[in-house]
Amino acid sequence: MNVPFYRHGLGPDDANAVADVLSTPFLTSAGKGKEVEAQLREFFDVPHAKLTNSWTNGSVAVLLALDIGPGDEVIVPAMTFIATANVVELVGATPIFVDVDPDTLLLRPEDVAAAITERTRAVIPVHLYGQMLDMAALRAAVGPDIAIIEDCAHAFEATFDGERPGTHSDAALFSFYATKNVTCGEGGACITRREDLFETLKVTLLHGMSAGAADRFKQGGYRHWDMLRLGTKANLPDLLAALLPTQIARVERVREQRESLCRRYEAAFAELSTVRLAAVDARAVSARHLFPIHVGSGRDRALKLLSEHGVGATVNYNPPFATTFYRDKYGIDDSRLPVSADWGWGVLSLPLFPSLTETEQDHVIHVVRDVIHPALQES
Ligand SMILES: *Cc1c(COP(=O)(O)O)cnc(C)c1O
Repeated sequence: MNVPFYRHGLGPDDANAVADVLSTPFLTSAGKGKEVEAQLREFFDVPHAKLTNSWTNGSVAVLLALDIGPGDEVIVPAMTFIATANVVELVGATPIFVDVDPDTLLLRPEDVAAAITERTRAVIPVHLYGQMLDMAALRAAVGPDIAIIEDCAHAFEATFDGERPGTHSDAALFSFYATKNVTCGEGGACITRREDLFETLKVTLLHGMSAGAADRFKQGGYRHWDMLRLGTKANLPDLLAALLPTQIARVERVREQRESLCRRYEAAFAELSTVRLAAVDARAVSARHLFPIHVGSGRDRALKLLSEHGVGATVNYNPPFATTFYRDKYGIDDSRLPVSADWGWGVLSLPLFPSLTETEQDHVIHVVRDVIHPALQES
């Protein structure tokens, strides 16, 4: 039996939504995107939302809008996808990797506070695997002057103490990349409560062209534009935005399917001494984006066994600071970030998507329990 790592849930109706955009005159950001932005404002109960063509480009635009660059430090977790640190590098600032909680794998507010220097301008907490960290506590720990930019790539539908992303941060960024819970292939969004940041963000998202430039093709004749500051190009075309509304509308129901699948995995693996799971805080409702298991030094052997038994698996994530680029640049040894190093070198992710059938999941559970577990016990 073959079980893929991921299968998207889009269908023929979604093709119709794209076809509708094809019949409009302007294929990039116009009416459809504005509709989705209104939907995002409502879902997150925030005054401002902007669609972006990726989490990465949206985050670069936010960092540019905050004037973060050379000489500045931005705190990032040591357990995350490389993109979280990359966006800091891309604007010429320095990412400061901080280790994570050994149970939840999330940044701890007190560790972030301890890493603050006079150069610290921002922190990018990551709601890893779908679990939000305690954002009120993080804000209290860093104070009002350090920007908080939430990495919500895994956590669209997550809450903590009943609060959604965007409540305590300067900005929260989402990814609609192909494997994310809400997807349009490539895409993202930024939400913020800060009017000033939003006005600047609209400029840094679009080449740095003066506000209103996005509307320069509108009726009423040509309008000159100017460029007052540097920007990138991060807007989402309507062709892709058209895939989002139905997914956002059903995201809570789909989250429950993800939750059930995760609980089934958790029950099946609870007694396995070779498998460690990430903890979810009782105050958090996780978006359940990924299902990681930590199997330690036998990880690569486990990956091979999964593949031999037809199970798609991946790694989220080998420690980002140990990639060649970051190792060459900063020379951070594993012993300085021990929790992230231990977790990152020993973790793998199992298939998790709403259309995973019980039979498929049973096969994955069988391979972990009856093939991998005994193999790891022997070694
Ligand atoms: C996917 C992901 C990103 C990057 O998202 P893109 O939309 O591909 O730029 C950033 N952070 C985390 C934690 C991710 O998983």
